[in-house]
Amino acid sequence: MSTENDALSQARAAYEDHVRTCRQCHYDQSPCAVSKHLLRTYNNVRRTQRQRAAG
Ligand SMILES: [Zn+2]
Repeated sequence: MSTENDALSQARAAYEDHVRTCRQCHYDQSPCAVSKHLLRTYNNVRRTQRQRAAG
């Protein structure tokens, strides 16, 4: 379980880290391709964990 939480927090940290440091995200005030990819990864991990918790 802790491993899954780690995967989730890692995915979120990667996304937040990118948004914090990405110049394009700051300049456009809209997520760039990398940001979208990281956010999608984070959502996928979260969804997978929720499904496992429900099942
Ligand atoms: Zn970006």
